[in-house]
Amino acid sequence: MIRLTFLGTRADVEENTENHFYHSSLLLQSINAHPFRLLIDYGRIRAYDLSILKPDAILITHAHSDHYLWTLEEINSAVPVYLTRETHDYGTYTPVHSRILTPYENLTLGPFRIFPYRVLHSINCPAAGFKIELPNGIVLVYNPDLVDIITKELILRGVDYYIGDGSTIKSNLVRRKGEMPLGHISIPAQISWCKEYGIENIIFTHIGRDTMKREDDFQEQYPESILAYDQMKIVF
Ligand SMILES: [Zn+2]
Ligand SMILES: [Zn+2]
Repeated sequence: MIRLTFLGTRADVEENTENHFYHSSLLLQSINAHPFRLLIDYGRIRAYDLSILKPDAILITHAHSDHYLWTLEEINSAVPVYLTRETHDYGTYTPVHSRILTPYENLTLGPFRIFPYRVLHSINCPAAGFKIELPNGIVLVYNPDLVDIITKELILRGVDYYIGDGSTIKSNLVRRKGEMPLGHISIPAQISWCKEYGIENIIFTHIGRDTMKREDDFQEQYPESILAYDQMKIVF
């Protein structure tokens, strides 16, 4: 059995609600003969400390402090932390057991097969997304902060669950530096990517101000997707 728990679903915004209080983070647990706990992202406002969560490994998407606490604090933990070279070098502190991962190179952690990829989001804190195959064959992608996926055909083909950036519904929160778009793409734009690639389960985390304001009629407006909330669980 595999259990996903959305430990947090809030973007890096002042606003919060009861459903979106903790910064975005996902725990994947295999609960069977080979138990394993994989944590993705560990940011500033978090429901649990590592001593309680006891993950076997941590994956980090990027060095913004709502995803990567080492930007701000030194943490003494024996848990291996997998992160890109850019994220490792950005932080004021570095995890005691850093493991550098390379985008587009497969990585196996316990029963999870992980393919890290590049997403466009920030110049200073380049971000990765993760395509993860669960032991039961289900494939998900996790990219809580992005304006674009560079290699959509490679990443979105064959995906069962898309877990994306819920910062904004109305319009893209995009700035341009030179020709490079930065920030957060809208929920409807991501839904159209999913439709193009036949992805049937669409979930948004990293809920921002605009999305919080419109949460009441979200389901009516976008019935093909759901907004995750803190402590939401999916069991396979
Ligand atoms: Zn963020
Ligand atoms: Zn970010």
